[in-house]
Amino acid sequence: MIPAAFGYVRARSLDDALARLEASAGSAKAIAGGQSLLPLMKLRLARPETLVDIGRLAELRGIRRLADGRVAVGALTTYDEMMADETLGHYGLLRDALPNIGDVQVRNRGTIGGSIAHADPASDMPAILLALDAEIVARSARGEREIAATSFFAGAFATALEPDELITEIRLPGGRDDVGSAYRAIEQPASGYSIAGVAAVIGAHDGNQWRFCSIGVTGVGEHPYRASAVESAVTSGASIEDAARHACDGVTVASDIHADREYRAHVATVIVRRALEAAIARLG
Ligand SMILES: Cc1cc2nc3c(=O)[nH]c(=O)nc-3n(C[C@H](O)[C@H](O)[C@H](O)COP(=O)(O)OP(=O)(O)OC[C@H]3O[C@@H](n4cnc5c(N)ncnc54)[C@H](O)[C@@H]3O)c2cc1C
Repeated sequence: MIPAAFGYVRARSLDDALARLEASAGSAKAIAGGQSLLPLMKLRLARPETLVDIGRLAELRGIRRLADGRVAVGALTTYDEMMADETLGHYGLLRDALPNIGDVQVRNRGTIGGSIAHADPASDMPAILLALDAEIVARSARGEREIAATSFFAGAFATALEPDELITEIRLPGGRDDVGSAYRAIEQPASGYSIAGVAAVIGAHDGNQWRFCSIGVTGVGEHPYRASAVESAVTSGASIEDAARHACDGVTVASDIHADREYRAHVATVIVRRALEAAIARLG
């Protein structure tokens, strides 16, 4: 449980951090809250030569509304800070998910940027960002780019980020009155990670059928995904129960000591239904 030897530098600014990551050619790693990286280093599953500590960069922290109505959440914003923020309180799915992530220490130290860069296939935030159609802003010494959440999660613990890129912020669409959202999960009790976690956003019912439905699923496949077969069934007029049966369409369902393939697929179907029902209930 003791990490291999490593160097440590505290970045003075975002530019300083980016220059150090670029110069290291992949041998350095950023550290934010350390909740995922330090355990990996202790198990020697990660052996960075140098840690570049970005944890005190004020420019990566905080939540603000953009001129176009979207909400930008700085990469270093902790779960606890997100829970306390009034603007984010309007997102039902965040209200559901945040208090159940990890324990007090994890919520105090863990950051949204660290969570999605780590890309654990069972973590909660990726499903939420997928369902919200969020954009992830990544910066390197070469410049900045926006990556759609739907293109960000590439595999288990793999993302679209280059080794010298940092996430600076996550952009969420502004809240809509005609849309309801919810997050439901069945968790592995010891860690709190989801066996199946589902973020649902649904809305604009025209008296006949739903015009909009967006579902992010975590814990089920190799990486979090959009359940597009459920989405199109819902917007084509299928009942919620029938639509939920498509939760795992096209996905290789994971099997592990906590849940075998058949059980996990069943749980995913149930949780998709519950998340959709809860999101609809929020529309009043
Ligand atoms: C006991 C325990 C329980 C947990 N339970 C849950 C749970 O129920 N649900 C859940 O979703 N998660 C859970 N987690 C995981 C937790 O959410 C993450 O560990 C945390 O959010 C990671 O953020 P961090 O700032 O600590 O990242 P770090 O550990 O500092 O970094 C993690 C990775 O992200 C990279 N990184 C960090 N910041 C950036 C950035 N801005 N740009 C690019 N790369 C970056 C690092 O280089 C590293 O590879 C749990 C963790 C623990 C220890």
